[in-house]
Amino acid sequence: MQITITQADQLKSKPDDAKLGFGTLFTDHMFNMDYHPDKGWHNPRIEPYTPIAMDPATMVLHYGQGIFEGLKAYRTGSGKIQLFRPGNNFKRLNRSARMLCIPELDETFALDALKALLVIEKDWVPRAPQTSLYIRPTIIATDPFLGVRASYTYRYFIILSPVGAYYAEGFNPVKIWVTQDHVRAVSGGVGEAKTIGNYAASLLAAEKAQQQGYTQVLWLDGIERKFVEEVGSMNIFIVIDDELISPALSGSILPGITRDSVISLAKMWNIKVSERKISIDEVIDAHGSGKLQEIFGSGTAAVISPVGELKYGHQVITIGDGQAGPLANKFFKALIDIQYGNSQDPMGWIEPVA
Ligand SMILES: *Cc1c(COP(=O)(O)O)cnc(C)c1O
Repeated sequence: MQITITQADQLKSKPDDAKLGFGTLFTDHMFNMDYHPDKGWHNPRIEPYTPIAMDPATMVLHYGQGIFEGLKAYRTGSGKIQLFRPGNNFKRLNRSARMLCIPELDETFALDALKALLVIEKDWVPRAPQTSLYIRPTIIATDPFLGVRASYTYRYFIILSPVGAYYAEGFNPVKIWVTQDHVRAVSGGVGEAKTIGNYAASLLAAEKAQQQGYTQVLWLDGIERKFVEEVGSMNIFIVIDDELISPALSGSILPGITRDSVISLAKMWNIKVSERKISIDEVIDAHGSGKLQEIFGSGTAAVISPVGELKYGHQVITIGDGQAGPLANKFFKALIDIQYGNSQDPMGWIEPVA
């Protein structure tokens, strides 16, 4: 498929790299492609960034049939632009698509289309340390119809947003509230898909955490409310007695690419790493016996997010000395060094763009 390119008449002025936040600014162009049952995915095009006009009955607005991805383009010290494991994002997008009855994309074409967009927008990839261009591929159901069924038509789009250094004020640990009142997902549901409704479902618990002075929610499993699943919209790692533990992908956990990268590095470094069930009681008991060493989250936005404090019921525990632990530091540094091209790429995770 040939990608049609329409250049924007006027380019926006670029922001100051040192003042970037997250997800508020968007670049000059976007990628769009449509799906119709008779034509399949068709009309791939790069065009000026613009609002999408929609019939108020458009299905995604009513029933949430939509999926997305999140990855970043990084600028290396020598000015080159590169991606980190982008093939995994398109593989996961297709997995989410199957779970939401959305037609799959050709993964090779999807990566080529993203690269074509990035080449046009390359001046938008910021240069300041630990800044990046956040990439949001999204698919939405577009039939104007109020009945409940899978849509026949879809729009795939990619938008780009320059984002600041997540840890501008240092690699600071967050405080986490373990909710017993809310669950994020259940096995058999769509927790392992990156689908829009999962985030709507997480908002109330996040607000309740914030009202108590906590940054994020730690989610327990939906059935027994006993086993640790995720933290906020990140995967979670717990270090007990030198064992690095992440909950096994049970069906209700989003299979994070950062999670997989941490596990791969741990294996390469001969760290004892387990993907298994871990109950909140095991975490609390390990703290009681002095064996709980670290807790941290993993995800594309923050890479690694150390947890300094955890509240479960009436108990408040401090993890380690409340500072980022040695493994959190080691994984954070190793991952950003690979992403920004400051170290070798031992796993072949880097995809050059321009
Ligand atoms: C995206 C996401 C993650 C992290 O996935 P990465 O591929 O590492 O960015 C974890 N949990 C949830 C719920 C997510 O949406």
